[in-house]
Amino acid sequence: MRTVVMVLFVFINLGFLLKLKAEDIYPPTFYPGSIHILKNTTGSYIELKTNNGTFKFPIKDRNAFFAIPYKAKGVAILDVIKNGQVVYRRYLVIKDKYFRVSRIYVKKRKLTKKVLERIRKEYKLLRKIFKTYTPKKFTEKHFTKPLRYLKISTPFGAKRIINDTKKSIHWGTDFKAPRGEPVFASLTGKVVLARELYYTGNTVIIDHGLGLYTIYAHLSKISVKEGQIVKGGQIIGKVGSTGRSTGPHLHFGVYINDIKVDPILALKLKL
Ligand SMILES: [Zn+2]
Repeated sequence: MRTVVMVLFVFINLGFLLKLKAEDIYPPTFYPGSIHILKNTTGSYIELKTNNGTFKFPIKDRNAFFAIPYKAKGVAILDVIKNGQVVYRRYLVIKDKYFRVSRIYVKKRKLTKKVLERIRKEYKLLRKIFKTYTPKKFTEKHFTKPLRYLKISTPFGAKRIINDTKKSIHWGTDFKAPRGEPVFASLTGKVVLARELYYTGNTVIIDHGLGLYTIYAHLSKISVKEGQIVKGGQIIGKVGSTGRSTGPHLHFGVYINDIKVDPILALKLKL
């Protein structure tokens, strides 16, 4: 009886779902903050159940991006849903990843009521942008480096200790670069934000479609406008140190449906 139940269990979980091969998920190794592509699927969306919540990723033209959230660990369940039914299920083992601690010292600023209101408004604006899904496909096969040379100063996911007290997570990769160095759009997309923000200074955000966004921060100069379509590799601004920054560098961030992913893994992705 037990065997029958087991066989049935396996059948229910995998049997009718075998059309999707394992290699249709790329890359096949999962980490907190890793980004992936699901290809050749007939489903309408992905549902990812983790210890840290359930996340949905729409599917367009048989493709979807999905990401493992930073706080996810253990085993996650990836379901492909079509017409309300699970048509594919896979258990994803999330590997442990060490995130280093980084200490920075910045000039203490007293936040006035007006500044706090600004920060709150900008936070809301960013969430609204990153949660917007544009059902558009890409033309490129891979990301373009946002700078000519990539020299990491602070990696993605570093636990930040600011002035010995405040703690936060570093949601992008910082690349050291001289002031004025050109910054390139990583992929073709639409500029959805090109303005000065309190924390990130002169900031550009590009919507690449399918829930994928890139952000470029602390620029000394922005050379694109909101609403403009840019090509991968096109200059969008220059390296600077605007906003809350300790010296010239590029903060480069990648988001999938408002989930922060490791930009270095995104740069390696084959689209
Ligand atoms: Zn940064």
